[in-house]
Amino acid sequence: MKWEENVRKVVPYVAGEQPNRPGMIKLNTNECPYPPAPGVGRLAREMDYDALRLYPDMDSRPLVEALAAYYHVEPAQVFVGVGSDDVLSMAFMTFFNSGKPVLFPDVTYSFYDVWAGLHQIPYRTCPLGEDWHIRPADYCQPNGGIVFPNPNAPTGLLESLDVVEEIVASNRDVVVIVDEAYIDFGGESALALLDQYDNLLVVGTFSKSRAMAGLRIGFCIGSEKLIGYLNNVKFAFNSYTMNLPAQLLGAEAVREEGYFRETVGKIIATRERTKGKMKELGFSFPDSKANFIFATHASIPAGQIYTALREADIYVRHWDKPRISEYLRITIGTDQQMDRLLGFLETYVRA
Ligand code: PMP
Repeated sequence: MKWEENVRKVVPYVAGEQPNRPGMIKLNTNECPYPPAPGVGRLAREMDYDALRLYPDMDSRPLVEALAAYYHVEPAQVFVGVGSDDVLSMAFMTFFNSGKPVLFPDVTYSFYDVWAGLHQIPYRTCPLGEDWHIRPADYCQPNGGIVFPNPNAPTGLLESLDVVEEIVASNRDVVVIVDEAYIDFGGESALALLDQYDNLLVVGTFSKSRAMAGLRIGFCIGSEKLIGYLNNVKFAFNSYTMNLPAQLLGAEAVREEGYFRETVGKIIATRERTKGKMKELGFSFPDSKANFIFATHASIPAGQIYTALREADIYVRHWDKPRISEYLRITIGTDQQMDRLLGFLETYVRA
């Protein structure tokens, strides 16, 4: 078929499965095991559905203003999108146009190389050290931009603000994107560096610490200039990316600080308890500061444990990829869910 010659052929991202059976335990896509803030539910139930007749605010003002107030920045420094995937993809398209390779770690969020492919951006990966940490010196080579998650995924390892600053400061001629999808679980945000670096873009999401993966809300914060360029691309693409419920419910979630702190605190406590138990069972892992643990077992192959867990209706994530094929990424669920996982593992590793 001749028309096929002119099709843009892309390699799609493979997301974690989304099964939903009663009784199953889903620890494979780093969602929050707790519900969104109570005010979000209240507002959803009371929402004026007549308002859905009209297009939503194209600047997503309710959400942008709530985020600006929360993070103490100007609304003109905030951009929102349909999950941070949308924000990141838009940022790749907007900022990575030099023709030089964009740099990111070899073990990292596996959407980065997919967006590079989609937007036809050359890239080069920088190997993480043996200890799974980023080696900042790798990011001193000529490049067309930089992106990395902090904490990194799937390792869960956090880089200090000094390391982040070292990378941003030695790359003033390109845009550096710090993907902070998991920062609320124990990291120090690069937002603290914004006043000094107009080439820094900090990306966040409501899918993890704010328990709203289903609404698809992501955001980024940067200098007014960076955000202005992102908005131009967005308005050249789709004026109404953020639907009305997402704008209003997202803003409400940001206002409920107390509930947010409580939920994040519970997940951190469960994570630390789970680390202790997993060590006793012969697992080792980088010291995660995210809502997941990236674990390998001393004697049992990861693929084997993955399959056994699946058969017990416990879903975790496993990649058959270089360097990480002996690891499982396990999302932190409720204490009860983790107890079921740990109970299964205890019987399995001792069998
Ligand atoms: N960045 C990282 C590092 C992630 O792990 C994820 C979750 N898959 C995302 C971004 C995207 O999350 P979302 O689109 O739900 O905001």
